[in-house]
Amino acid sequence: MSANSNNTNLNSGSVDGIVEAGERLARRPWPTTPIRSGIEVSFEFFPPATDTGAATLARCADELAPLGPNFVSVTYGAGGTTQDRTHQAVSRLARETELNVAGHLTCVGATKSQVGEVIDDYVAGGVSHIVALRGDAPEGQTDGTVSGGYADAADLVAGIRRRHDADGIEISVGAYPETHPKAASPQADLDNLKKKLDAGADRAITQFFFDTEVFLRFLERARAAGITAPIIPGIMPVTNFANITRFSSRCGTDIPDWMHDLFAGLDDAPEVHQLVSATVAAEQCRRLAEHGVTNFHFYTMNKPELTAATCRILGVKPAAKDLAKPESAPQLQQRQRVS
Ligand SMILES: Cc1cc2nc3c(=O)[nH]c(=O)nc-3n(C[C@H](O)[C@H](O)[C@H](O)COP(=O)(O)OP(=O)(O)OC[C@H]3O[C@@H](n4cnc5c(N)ncnc54)[C@H](O)[C@@H]3O)c2cc1C
Repeated sequence: MSANSNNTNLNSGSVDGIVEAGERLARRPWPTTPIRSGIEVSFEFFPPATDTGAATLARCADELAPLGPNFVSVTYGAGGTTQDRTHQAVSRLARETELNVAGHLTCVGATKSQVGEVIDDYVAGGVSHIVALRGDAPEGQTDGTVSGGYADAADLVAGIRRRHDADGIEISVGAYPETHPKAASPQADLDNLKKKLDAGADRAITQFFFDTEVFLRFLERARAAGITAPIIPGIMPVTNFANITRFSSRCGTDIPDWMHDLFAGLDDAPEVHQLVSATVAAEQCRRLAEHGVTNFHFYTMNKPELTAATCRILGVKPAAKDLAKPESAPQLQQRQRVS
């Protein structure tokens, strides 16, 4: 494009509009400056099924730990399908790292006493934070509740408080900015969230979403309904767009058209896919931060890179001591000779 055609384009817009756009851009921090101070993060992992998976999780936790998360959590298969694996992963993280580890817990398909044993094991293993969930009924069952079981997540929260209040347990619960697919209505879903918090939960963590406006509107509705507890947005960096699309349709998360356009044809271009994913997640977090959001929960899928990149753009990075480069072998030999 010639300099002349550029001028023509500029001149065809209103000067006021251009000045206003320039001012807006100038107010927007560049990625080199943290968007705001005081950003806090937490990370979600899933329990590995194999030794290789366990090594992957250990590496993921190792790489993300220097970011100083408030907590990390490990998911739990509804109906106890991953109960042992979750317990192993939680215990290992609690034992081998200095991370504050939260265990997820679902109540569907289990009696109160079975659920109680899991809670007791968590507490005995030093876990003092539970992400309390109903869980999804097994395939083919409409409801999944069993006789002698908890009715729903609010009932579970009340049960944990009754059993372990003296242990100073922290409880987080799930929230759904786009409404849980089985909820009778958005209002009923919001009432249910309030019920869980009133039963003793400390905070809510949301299902992942990609439309930032949807979260902001949800937050507004929650505050208007008298919910004062923290509601932490769940951020899903897109590690694999095809998988996320499948998963989203099951959990009621909308994937906007612009994302389909953006990722179209990238299945066979993993590096480009990752770069686009990092940009999308960072942009989503920056927009939320611009609206005052200071806490973010990342669904890491046990892959640290996209989460670490997004955190860094938000201004969350390892403390200076963790950033020091390890000495190379020749440097180490030289220092040992000198000393
Ligand atoms: C942060 C987060 C972490 C999660 N971690 C896990 C995990 O580790 N393991 C796992 O299995 N799942 C997990 N889930 C998914 C969760 O178990 C499902 O979304 C489940 O369907 C609802 O759980 P809840 O605790 O929100 O349920 P509730 O608070 O009891 O219900 C939420 C809403 O769904 C409606 N609802 C749910 N089930 C039914 C039903 N059977 N009939 C009628 N209405 C229903 C309720 O009326 C309400 O509106 C997680 C979700 C979130 C947001």
